[in-house]
Amino acid sequence: MNNSDFNLNYQNKSIESKIVASLERISQAFRVLLWQESKEFALTPIQIQVLIFIFYHHNEKCKVSYLADEFNLTKATISETIKTLEQKELITKEFDTQDTRSFTIQLTKNGKKIVEQTSLFSKEIFNPIDKLHQDDKETLLFSLLNIIKHLNQVKVITIQRMCFTCVYYKRSANGQKHFCNLLNQNLQTTDLRIDCPDYVSL
Ligand code: SF4
Repeated sequence: MNNSDFNLNYQNKSIESKIVASLERISQAFRVLLWQESKEFALTPIQIQVLIFIFYHHNEKCKVSYLADEFNLTKATISETIKTLEQKELITKEFDTQDTRSFTIQLTKNGKKIVEQTSLFSKEIFNPIDKLHQDDKETLLFSLLNIIKHLNQVKVITIQRMCFTCVYYKRSANGQKHFCNLLNQNLQTTDLRIDCPDYVSL
């Protein structure tokens, strides 16, 4: 395919393809950084991601079906991950008193310790972003949110907890101003959220 983003003859003349190729490199960096952590703690990358997610999210999201959607994996794969984490005594299951087949997942003391040691795995991606000019950071955040919104609309990414797809979000006619009806306040670009605990899907 001549216009593949990975065809160098095409890519080197296209800023859009260079951005796509750059995002691919950054996604590789996430994989590499996660693998480094997993080797150190004898866990797989998805096991670490699940532990970090559980630590930072409300109980209602710490269920097999939600985690399967969150990580775009099957329920069987997440169930297997949970089973292994339970055997390693990093999580426990809290069964629903009304429905004993349903449970939420909680971290044990050791599970929390692993999160403390691994959840800074992305700091080498954070560092160069931290050095950008404030205007560039805002442009980058706004652009990434729009790319993620598109990926959600075409069903590549399932779960969203970001302002642009939230029922409370309103954008001005010229697209320049943002408002949250729940917080009842204008949102500056820096206030736009990628993972909001109050998010309600459109
Ligand atoms: S509730 Fe959260 S996600 Fe929704 S618009 Fe307000 S800040 Fe954004």
